[in-house]
Amino acid sequence: MTNARVLVTGGAGFLGSHLCDALLAQGHLVIAVDNLLTGSSSNLDHLSHEPRFELRQLDICETFDCGKVEYVFQFASPASPVDYSNHGIPTLKVGSLGTFNSLELAKKYDAKYLMASTSECYGDPLQHPQKETYWGNVNPVGPRSVYDEAKRFSEAVTVAYRRYHKVDTRIVRIFNTYGPRMQLNDGRVIPNFMKQALRGEDLTVYGDGSQTRSFCYVSDQIEGILRLAKSSELGPVNIGNPAEFTILECANKVLAVTAAKSRIRYEPLPQDDPKQRCPDITKARQVLGWEPKIKLEDGLKLSLDYFRRALLNH
Ligand code: UDP
Repeated sequence: MTNARVLVTGGAGFLGSHLCDALLAQGHLVIAVDNLLTGSSSNLDHLSHEPRFELRQLDICETFDCGKVEYVFQFASPASPVDYSNHGIPTLKVGSLGTFNSLELAKKYDAKYLMASTSECYGDPLQHPQKETYWGNVNPVGPRSVYDEAKRFSEAVTVAYRRYHKVDTRIVRIFNTYGPRMQLNDGRVIPNFMKQALRGEDLTVYGDGSQTRSFCYVSDQIEGILRLAKSSELGPVNIGNPAEFTILECANKVLAVTAAKSRIRYEPLPQDDPKQRCPDITKARQVLGWEPKIKLEDGLKLSLDYFRRALLNH
């Protein structure tokens, strides 16, 4: 794929916008589409004079066509628990109708296709760490099901288009990723803790803080996704950082990096909050030669300026 015309759905989102930057840096022409439900055009302001880039505001749940493309990256969806709870039906629609419509485009133009899936496919996992071969433990009627089941369905549609229509598809399962351009109010743990620490407010730890997550810095995540896009591996492939932390440890890292004097305030654990989450990245290491480089503490330091500026403009 050189100097290709590439479509990024959800291109104004946190990950989508970083993906657009990386594709432009590789010399491609990029069309981002987004309905701006949870994405923000400000994530793309720096590209306003870039002739190889275009943002089109549209909803991929409606049929759309942006002309011939050689690659489609399906990154459209609310992605934080707060966002997908607030927008449950649009989340189900974009994972189903949006995935169908973007796959139809890939089929029409014989384009390659990469679908952004999620560690949420594993639900509250009974296997640890999670390998791609694990089928998961998802509550189909719980508060997270609008996202989890939409993404699982999206994976099913993606493999069906490969099987029945011979579209050249790939699936990445993205584990908790963080960095600049996360929305301050998306409710995820790192923006919440950063915002609270920089304001000198208490850090809100849900439950007793013993639940774990494994945090991947955004540049590592994008590198993994691009390697998968170029490879002949179909996936699903886990891309995430296997360094696992309790949420309490994460809070203490944020306090150390921000030098904040905030205290911890314990709040109720949301229903179906996964108790543990850690990617087994053996497959990514073996087939993509990829592994993350940036430790949580360093990634938080790299994100600090962004969160400071975002708070000032808030
Ligand atoms: N969490 C927390 N305090 C917050 C926000 C989140 O303790 O202010 C916890 C949440 O309960 C979960 C973990 O942090 O166990 C990660 O939550 P997040 O919303 O970032 O994403 P998830 O991995 O649950 O999709």
